[in-house]
Amino acid sequence: MLSVAIIGKPNVGKSTLFNRLVGRSHSIVSPIEGVTRDRIYGTVNWLENKFNLIDTGGFLPNSIDTINTHVREQANLALDESDLILFVVDGREGPTSPDKFLANELIKSGKNYLFLVNKVDDEVHDTATYEFYELGLNEHIAISAQNKRNIDILLDKIITFIPTNNKQEQSVNYIGIALIGIPNAGKSSIMNRLLKEDKSIVTDIAGTTRDSVDSYIKYYGKVFKLIDTAGLRKKTKIDSNIEFYSTVRTYRSIAQCQIAVVVIDASKGFNRQDRDIVRYVIDSGKGLILVINKWDLINKDTNTYEEFKKDIYDQFPSVEHYPTISISALHNLRVGNILKEADAINERITTKIKTSDLNKFLEFVQRKFQHPISGGKNIKFKYVSQLDTVPPLFAFFSNFPKLVNVQYKRYLENQLRENFDFDGVPIKITFKQK
Ligand code: GDP
Ligand code: GDP
Repeated sequence: MLSVAIIGKPNVGKSTLFNRLVGRSHSIVSPIEGVTRDRIYGTVNWLENKFNLIDTGGFLPNSIDTINTHVREQANLALDESDLILFVVDGREGPTSPDKFLANELIKSGKNYLFLVNKVDDEVHDTATYEFYELGLNEHIAISAQNKRNIDILLDKIITFIPTNNKQEQSVNYIGIALIGIPNAGKSSIMNRLLKEDKSIVTDIAGTTRDSVDSYIKYYGKVFKLIDTAGLRKKTKIDSNIEFYSTVRTYRSIAQCQIAVVVIDASKGFNRQDRDIVRYVIDSGKGLILVINKWDLINKDTNTYEEFKKDIYDQFPSVEHYPTISISALHNLRVGNILKEADAINERITTKIKTSDLNKFLEFVQRKFQHPISGGKNIKFKYVSQLDTVPPLFAFFSNFPKLVNVQYKRYLENQLRENFDFDGVPIKITFKQK
């Protein structure tokens, strides 16, 4: 997916613009715990197009003496992590020296960008924007993030940068794997193991040449794409940016994968940040494997692994539906199982269940447990059909779809899991009018 980053010095309106753009979409992203700003990453939907939006703003301190190093670092991160830059300046104050600095970085980078003069709240102020010509950038768009002025024009412009071969890429026959998790959990170590263990690294897959940041390997006769391997190797030097860097990477990799491998540091246990990442993966409809790395550091007896898992399930019960593997990247213990498991999940997440089997299932589950009377109505499900795969989406048709309660929805999901094999796969359910 196209990644778009907003850059600009503090107070030009980056965060306002971010909220304006993401706010238009229905798929607002929940934040991963621990970042300095409420939200820094979101998916924007516009006219059936989608792109990712990154706000770099929350990571800048407001004290003037440190601003220049941080502006530079911020710009570098944005340039690394995105395909298109939205460069924002404040139309009420004319070009300042940080603006000039960023403009130069932008020009040097050769990256695609859109130049936005913000806070031009009405036409009266349009003429004042011409002084920004001295920055030597492309034609600007005068906007008001606050008043929504020219935001539609901006969105129309952004989507022209979406490559048209997006759809083709979807059909390429590989399994996209994202290795994610908190810093130091062992993601790079695992990736290096996977790349080293398997000699058949594939480089010549049609339509994939553009993705130089990813690696392709063949395993069990299948091609796996390890997403953003370059991002795992590269680490930022400035402490305050580590979190930003890893958060952006995480969101982006999840967006691109079919199966997310969430790496947990066994010596630290399953913590809040892990929980947020896992929740985000499930909400995104991606396959999920929990990898408990650094298992070598744990003092073990017969029950240790079960207890470790139980602690996770106590915190987050639905994780029980997803496979867990304990490994040691350091000692190369069970690392290969990750791909074996990913292959199995990929089979399940792409499977389409026959409507006839689903309707037999529906008869069975309704006999076992009827939906209780709701709003004075007797709820009867007539049939069910699988509308989609990756993730599987089931539509249950009934006389009163709006009256189906959340317990019954959960019951149906659990029954689907019991009667069909969806280990590692998130399930989506929708209710429709018969
Ligand atoms: P950031 O530091 O670049 O993320 O800037 P913010 O989004 O936090 O905005 C800084 C200030 O500018 C806030 O007080 C906003 O309300 C204000 N602001 C943002 N966009 C506009 C705009 O289009 N017009 C006006 N007049 N004010 C704006
Ligand atoms: P990343 O930030 O998630 O990519 O983590 P790294 O792969 O860079 O690993 C962080 C640290 O944990 C490094 O010092 C690794 O050597 C160490 N490490 C990684 N995997 C293991 C493991 O299985 N056991 C032990 N004991 N240490 C590990």
